[in-house]
Amino acid sequence: MTAQLAGTPLLEVRGLHTRYGRVEALGGVSLEVPAEHIVSVIGANGAGKTTLLNSVMGILTPAAGEVFYAGEPLRGVPPEARVARGITLVPERRELFASMTVADNLQLGAYTRRRGGWRSDLDGVYARFPRLAERRRQLAGTLSGGEQQMLAIGRALMARPRLLLLDEPSLGLAPLIVRDILRIVQGLREEGVTVLLVEQNARASLAISDEGYVLETGRVRLSGPAHELARDEALGASYLGGEGRAQGA
Ligand code: ATP
Repeated sequence: MTAQLAGTPLLEVRGLHTRYGRVEALGGVSLEVPAEHIVSVIGANGAGKTTLLNSVMGILTPAAGEVFYAGEPLRGVPPEARVARGITLVPERRELFASMTVADNLQLGAYTRRRGGWRSDLDGVYARFPRLAERRRQLAGTLSGGEQQMLAIGRALMARPRLLLLDEPSLGLAPLIVRDILRIVQGLREEGVTVLLVEQNARASLAISDEGYVLETGRVRLSGPAHELARDEALGASYLGGEGRAQGA
């Protein structure tokens, strides 16, 4: 890969249109994720958030528009090659292998790696998530929701991502657990991982983000520095009302 030009965002999405048959789920979405930033995309059910991440990952093929990673277009690059280049998705439903152990699920996260070193990465994941270390021989399907989310993130880290795509990590979790998960995400950014975070939990995700985008029916309705969006009155009425401070990270 060519050296990244100074000032080039690690991820740039330009005019992306993605359809499911006649349903247009993304109607011309553009956004930028600078290196070592956390960028949140917030929006209600059906706004197109998962479609956006799946389009960046190459799981869905956009009808028009382009995705650039470190300045290079990704058109035609299959998902596994995107993983090898440093893009990893933690999917909304976590997609763990329920009848396999924690350790086996983690090991699967390293499958695209050409070089070795996965054992030391495994130790790194256990050091970051002591609850997973304690449960390494437990079946993934028997973990709590928060532990399963930790495992899904830990598995993604086994691929040594430079860009982590997180699809609603707070889904179905209690506010205190959400706070723990978002702290972990913040910690990853401090270690140099760039994060595109999709969330319905607007207040909590903006609190840890550098920039934010609000997606509505497949289009960007608002964008800006996360702290400004968190104070935006129009946004507050639709997305931030009623969440309360308890969920703020
Ligand atoms: P949620 O928070 O509920 O996951 P989302 O913001 O991630 O919502 P998407 O899942 O991207 O939204 O869906 C965007 C639009 O595309 C919705 O109108 C949805 O009904 C439609 N859609 C999503 N997946 C499919 C599919 N496989 N076939 C047809 N339409 C789909």
